[in-house]
Amino acid sequence: MIPALMPNYARADIAFERGEGPYLFTAEGRRYLDFAAGVAVNALGHGHPHLVAALVEQAKRVWHYSNLYRVPGQEQMAARLVERTFADTVFFCNSGAEAVEASLKMARKYQDHVGSPERYRVITFENAFHGRTLATISAGTNAAHQKGFDPLVQGFDHCAFGNMNEVRAKITGETAAILVEPVQGEGGIHPAPRGFLKALREACDEHGLLLVFDEVQTGMGRTGKLFAYEWEGIAPDVMAVAKGIGGGFPIGACLATERAAAAMTAGTHGSTFGGNLLAMAAANAVLDVMLAPGFFERVQETGRYLGERLAATATRFPKAIETVRGTGMMWGVKCVVPYAEMTTRLRDHGLLTVPAGDNVVRFLPPLNIERAQVDDAVTALEKAAASFA
Ligand SMILES: *Cc1c(COP(=O)(O)O)cnc(C)c1O
Repeated sequence: MIPALMPNYARADIAFERGEGPYLFTAEGRRYLDFAAGVAVNALGHGHPHLVAALVEQAKRVWHYSNLYRVPGQEQMAARLVERTFADTVFFCNSGAEAVEASLKMARKYQDHVGSPERYRVITFENAFHGRTLATISAGTNAAHQKGFDPLVQGFDHCAFGNMNEVRAKITGETAAILVEPVQGEGGIHPAPRGFLKALREACDEHGLLLVFDEVQTGMGRTGKLFAYEWEGIAPDVMAVAKGIGGGFPIGACLATERAAAAMTAGTHGSTFGGNLLAMAAANAVLDVMLAPGFFERVQETGRYLGERLAATATRFPKAIETVRGTGMMWGVKCVVPYAEMTTRLRDHGLLTVPAGDNVVRFLPPLNIERAQVDDAVTALEKAAASFA
């Protein structure tokens, strides 16, 4: 008999009652170091006092009244993002998939607006992950996500990640945009090869395409800057953001230049919940913390330390770990042993991590962890790796 709760997840048989900083606690009081961070969502850990205060204060006033009226928190958050990024304008929604969906719709709308309605196709990449709506599973290439859901949404052309020749060969008079993750997260922590994003930018400029970055996972400090594109010396035209932006509150955002969003006039797109008052209280509070002086320097420093320690551990346990790759606070441990078993053994040693594609276990800690917690995580990895010998 099907359980009351739809069985569409392979959940670990464990629940948590309480969170505090980088730790989660079960009802029995067992403590876990949380390097899953709700899949890169709890960017500031659990129960951050500034976030709790902002959300509680807002909860007492008003939670939601829709986008029929002005929402000052949205205006404030949008202005702060615009000030700090390439973008001129921001749309708020509730998830990563919705942020990507808004980006895809905007790409079509833009081409229609500039007189090229025949340009509707979007180039995406093998191994990409953009969400679980029909359009976003079609943008991706994960067979498990697509099987049985045909017909998929038309208009996606897939290229090998990093292969500029293939991208150029696939650009036609029907291409509207290129959609790419600066670091493929779900696919197994694959950073874009050096120069690839810049080459995509050049191709987009040359052919009149919009460059869309999916920074749902890489954004909000995960790579050690507010957004990953800042490392590249280039900027996209449109960018999908979610995961860390609410620190655990479900929020998505689509950021765009004035040119890319020129046709997004009243009535063209929307969301009932998008950017409600609770969400914007959380998002503004997250930004307060991240934009404080020195925040990203610390993320970079601690992230580098985490990467070094993971790499050293890989060298010591070649029978369990093949390699380590990543950047900032986004690391993938590619296993020799089955990654699901590694995840389980890490959990047995009190460390929560996230499985990804390519037999990788992701280490995605809260951005504000301490070195001592990195040491504890590495100790858990050493024990788990040794247990396979
Ligand atoms: C998680 C993720 C998504 C989907 O986000 P949801 O909030 O689950 O819809 C899209 N793109 C990337 C890069 C992601 O990591």
